[in-house]
Amino acid sequence: MEITLLGTGTPIPDPDRAGSSTLVRAGSSAVLADCGRGVLMRLTAAGVFPPMLSAVLLTHLHSDHITDLNDVITMRWVMSPLPNPLTIYGPPRTAEVVDGVLAMLAPDISYRIAHHDDLVEPPSVTVVEVQHGDEFVVGDLTVRVAATDHRPVEPTVAFRLEHDGVSVVLGGDGVPCDTLEELCAGAHAYVQTVLREDIVRTVPVQRFTDILDYHSTVEQAAQVAARAGVSTLVLTHYIPSLPTGNEEEWRALAAAHFSGEIVIGPDLTSVTVG
Ligand SMILES: [Zn+2]
Ligand SMILES: [Zn+2]
Repeated sequence: MEITLLGTGTPIPDPDRAGSSTLVRAGSSAVLADCGRGVLMRLTAAGVFPPMLSAVLLTHLHSDHITDLNDVITMRWVMSPLPNPLTIYGPPRTAEVVDGVLAMLAPDISYRIAHHDDLVEPPSVTVVEVQHGDEFVVGDLTVRVAATDHRPVEPTVAFRLEHDGVSVVLGGDGVPCDTLEELCAGAHAYVQTVLREDIVRTVPVQRFTDILDYHSTVEQAAQVAARAGVSTLVLTHYIPSLPTGNEEEWRALAAAHFSGEIVIGPDLTSVTVG
């Protein structure tokens, strides 16, 4: 299975890092997890166009993980020569968000249907709201869902994708919790969004330090990976933004707690596991 970090940024705009988004490819399947700012630019750079996606997974409904969902829906629709339904899996209230996105797109949808004779139906989107313990199949992959702890944002979920005995956990945002750790047990890779507590604490802005209570630190992600027996830890969603060249400083913080492979880098960093 191949993991590609499409966007390693955060809500704060960054000229070099797109918003939170990860691509997982296995067999003939390509699954997009979260749809942050600029997702389709990075997806294209990874060689995948929207019509090729097997499904979209949403870990939670924070704006930095869904800002460009509208772009994914629209471009899949416009770029597909035939109807190409898209299934979006996400936590409760995903249907509400997707309904809102489609409402926002209503003028655009009407313009394009009026303009193109061969475009006669609006985008076909199916939403499946998932919760802890759910399992489903996407193409060549089986997917298991577990609750995460990103409170007061709730419910939030992580996904474990499996293909031919290889497994990848997409942890999303949140602090360590038992259900996430169980999901990670023995996984080949664990992708976690992380925060540098030592840096965030030096910024005397309440709205920034508020985020300390609902994000994993680099050290916590490494500790979860170690306890769960994960082979490869993939860090993303770097808070604050990771200046290129400082990767080894972040890696060292994780390596103090986890002896496996640690992946950290710019957008489009890719790793194959299994
Ligand atoms: Zn979040
Ligand atoms: Zn986030």
